Amino acid sequence: MKKSWKLLSVMMVVALFILAGCGNNGNNAGGSNAAAGEGGLAAIKERGKLQVGVKFDTKLFGLKDPSSGQVEGFDIDISKAIAKHILGDENAIELKEVTSKTRIPMLNNGEIDMVVATMTITEERKKEVDFSDVYFQAGQSLLVKKGSPVKGLADITKDSTVLGSKGSTSVKNIKEKVPGVTVLEFDNYQDAFTALKTGKGDALTTDDSILYGMAAQDPNYEVVGEPFTDEPYGIAVQKGNSEVVKAINDTLAELKSSGEYDKIYEKWIGKAPAK
Ligand code: GLU
Repeated sequence: MKKSWKLLSVMMVVALFILAGCGNNGNNAGGSNAAAGEGGLAAIKERGKLQVGVKFDTKLFGLKDPSSGQVEGFDIDISKAIAKHILGDENAIELKEVTSKTRIPMLNNGEIDMVVATMTITEERKKEVDFSDVYFQAGQSLLVKKGSPVKGLADITKDSTVLGSKGSTSVKNIKEKVPGVTVLEFDNYQDAFTALKTGKGDALTTDDSILYGMAAQDPNYEVVGEPFTDEPYGIAVQKGNSEVVKAINDTLAELKSSGEYDKIYEKWIGKAPAK
């Protein structure tokens, strides 16, 4: 009897060790060993396909055409270049929809290898993910209905209602710039734009680059005032995934030196990037 108890406790200790080991290997969200697991370079090559989180509702950066099913934009072209660099084929790619709110959780639970989705590099986000070099410079601005009394940030007061997207820097920034302002937060930018069109707010706020895309979708709306923040976009990967960050940065450097970056920029933004 005594002997079997001893055997049982030894077995339990062994089982606990095994379980603890599995937990560590399987859980990349903590970030210590991402390179060895999901989203690592070896895993991407083995799969033969790059899984990228992009926006599906953001004209100019990542917009899904409902009739063709194609997703197109600046972020998509950058993603294809990364797939070409890593896998030798720009079509070895699977685009998955993310929103400002879902992109970090989807990355850290291994659904995607990277986020290429109008995402600003911030100190707060750096605690959860690693970023590539800056690949686009935006700034926060305001979109209003043409003829609106709102002509810029100075016209937004604590009595204004501003519309934004959950999980975006824009929502946080506007609350800091205009204490007491009412901010209605939506799951994505198309819902926020619909809310603006149905008169739910005085202005919609996010990056100027995204707002120009909305103004192009509906000419009754315009971007007003000067950008009032800096929003440097970076590509996010799981923490500790330095091989993939290097592959992305190498791709960006190649795109810049070959002139391809400028071509992609002009194709979507309609002008040359500021040097
Ligand atoms: N660039 C800003 C951000 O990362 C706003 C755009 C967005 O929500 O994706 O939060």
